[in-house]
Parts: sequence; C-alpha cells; structure tokens
Amino acid sequence: MKILAIGRNYVDHAKELNNPVPEEPVIFLMPETALIKKNQPFFYPDFSNDVHYEVELVLKINRLGKNISEKFAHRYFDEIGIGIDFTARDLQNELKKKGLPWEKSKGFDGAAPIGKFLTKESLSDVQNISFSLEKNGELVQNGNSKDMIFSFDAIIAHVSKFFTLKIGDLIFTGTPAGVGPVKIGDELIAKIEGQELLKLHVK
Ligand code: ZN
Repeated sequence: MKILAIGRNYVDHAKELNNPVPEEPVIFLMPETALIKKNQPFFYPDFSNDVHYEVELVLKINRLGKNISEKFAHRYFDEIGIGIDFTARDLQNELKKKGLPWEKSKGFDGAAPIGKFLTKESLSDVQNISFSLEKNGELVQNGNSKDMIFSFDAIIAHVSKFFTLKIGDLIFTGTPAGVGPVKIGDELIAKIEGQELLKLHVK
C-alpha cells in the first residue's frame, strides 16, 4: 500500500507557514513504514529538534482506480479516519530552501500515526466533518472538511491522474492552522466530531 498526502489544503495553514495558496493540490508520498497504528508511541527522531504535529482527516481507498472523475470519486472511499502528519520542520525548511524533495522530513519512520476509522455512513455530511487535536489536554488544532481548498473528491480525481489508487491506500488530506512542536512526554489526542480516535504518547 502507499500513503499519499496533500500539503497546504487549508488557507489558514498555508498562510501560517507563509506558503502561497496552491492552484492544484500539492502531493507527496510517505512509505508504509511511516505508519503508527493502535495508539503505539511516537519516538522522537534524533535528526530533528523541531518535530511538528499536523492533524489531518485520512481517506481509506476501497477500490482500484486510475483517472477517476470527480463525479465518481466518492465511490472510492467508504471510511474516514484521523492521523497526524508529523513533520521535521527544521529539516523540511532546509530541504525547501534547496528546492529538494520533502520525503526525509515527512515520511520518516513513525511520521504517520493513524487512528480508528469511521464509516462514511456514520458521518452525516463528509463535506462538514469537524476534527481536532489536543496536546496535553489543551485544544491546539480545530478544523472542518468544509474549509478544505480541494475536497475529498477533487483530491482523488487529481492524485489518480498520476498514481493508480489501490485498495488500502491512504490519503492524508491536509492540516488546518495551529501546527506546532511536540516534545518528549507529550500526549496527543485526535478526534472526529468529538469522538476520540487516536491517542499517542511522544517518547
Ligand atoms: Zn500535512
């Protein structure tokens, strides 16, 4: 399986990092070894001093597809979950400055914890899903899928032009504003519609 991720999909987050609002989705990939499942801990990597959390809604692909039209894109996922796109921001800034790919800063081991998934049917409206992240009991990020620049369907249509989607692939759909650093000892809790789906300790 593969993990696709969308960068800068919320205007307020693009602005907080002084990035332009994109005209088409910014895509990057993460390897399967980036995943953390079942609330296993995140081990702070020794190559960074500035790892940031980014809470994101995650789509789970349920059928094979290429060149999927936006109109039919909703048929390609039936579960939505929540994940954290950990980013070694210091490393990413260095790579961005040199015009190099981001992978090392985004796809390292443990960079992509995911929580439990919910079925689409259990969510009243996929275009209006609220989600949040708490750090040590304090609300640090609060987003809603209605504020995405590119909708789930637009993302699937765009990425499937370049990458055939396969059953079990995951798509991280971008983070809202409020990203910030984690340190060893932190506890992160991610929720969809107030429901806790991911809890993670930084070790
Ligand atoms: Zn992200």
